[in-house]
Amino acid sequence: MTERLYYQDSYLKEFKARILKRIKIGNQPAVILDRTAFYPTSGGQPFDKGVIQDTPVVEVVEEDEEIIHILREEIKEEINSQVVGRIDWERRFDHMQQHSGQHILSGTLMELWGVETVSFHLGEEVCTLDIIKEKLTEEEIKKAEECANEIIFNNRPVKCYLVKGEEELRKLNLRKVPDRKGKIRIVEVENFDLSACGGTHCRATGEVGLIKVIKWEKRGEKIRLEFICGRRAWEDYFWKNELIKIISNKLTIKDSELGEVIDRMLEERKETRKELKEFKERLQDYEARNLINESSLRDDGVKIVKKVFEEKNFQEVRELVQKIINLDDSVVVLFGFKDEGAKILFACSRGLKYDMNRLIREAGKVIEGRGGGTYNFAQAGGKKAEGIHKALDFALKNLKNFMKK
Ligand SMILES: [Zn+2]
Repeated sequence: MTERLYYQDSYLKEFKARILKRIKIGNQPAVILDRTAFYPTSGGQPFDKGVIQDTPVVEVVEEDEEIIHILREEIKEEINSQVVGRIDWERRFDHMQQHSGQHILSGTLMELWGVETVSFHLGEEVCTLDIIKEKLTEEEIKKAEECANEIIFNNRPVKCYLVKGEEELRKLNLRKVPDRKGKIRIVEVENFDLSACGGTHCRATGEVGLIKVIKWEKRGEKIRLEFICGRRAWEDYFWKNELIKIISNKLTIKDSELGEVIDRMLEERKETRKELKEFKERLQDYEARNLINESSLRDDGVKIVKKVFEEKNFQEVRELVQKIINLDDSVVVLFGFKDEGAKILFACSRGLKYDMNRLIREAGKVIEGRGGGTYNFAQAGGKKAEGIHKALDFALKNLKNFMKK
């Protein structure tokens, strides 16, 4: 059984211990010491990092009352030798801020609405806790944050101690009854919250600094709250404040006017998009009429619009074709389109009896392409861009041979 030094003193950064066992976890070397300040992953709190004899500790796990330190590489010290362990204090203190913050927030939710915290997870970026509650409003969250931060500003002492018997345990008004038997460790926020917990905590609530709920969402019958404390909360405030500064400088407005101005901008954008759509349509209409006017008229009264595009996008070309055959009831459109390869698009007014599907299959061969469509609207794509004009000439010359059957 490893003696857990962090139970008595979560501020212990360096300690001496004896090696009890040297083992392998997978391929990684690991050691079990007689005592340790390294916290193993448990109760929602992740493990501590640090070094043992200058060798990095990559993970710490708990197994049968023993704490296993998984090392990046083998250390030379044998069993029974003394080693020095040093924990990564920045990481540890962050975990202390988050975990003590969680107790304060959970205590607040219990005090305000009698809501129990069913689980807690201290993540790399944010912490989460799950509660069972029908719904949670903006005002309720604000109220919870306000009360929780008040507890921080009070700078109340946080004490950790062991309770031996069930008798003693029953006397305490614990926020949640533990399922463990035997000795139970209690974390007490003075005159506010009593919880059974094995985690590392700040010595007073003031060290938590700040609690901020980032967001919350309903998950089945639970609500999951995302929150951050301490330095994480300051860092979050810092980048968000920077971002708002940048945006309000760009828009040359006060940050407090941001919401209003963005609403106005979105409204304007909607209007502009509507206008642009109308203009595009009118332009396309004009272009379609122009192309019909410039078409060549054949003896049988059929108009031929033949053109190769390079600058338009293909969707626009398709729309233009549709417009042309809708505007005129005796027009044949033979379009080519150059991008990385070649595309051809043949169409005719609904009243005409040509078969554009069969025609494009033949003409498509000139651009080494494939495609098809209906009798009055067909398209094909191929690799040979230099063949486009030839494909259109072929179609023009052979149009009469491709009548609808
Ligand atoms: Zn806890």
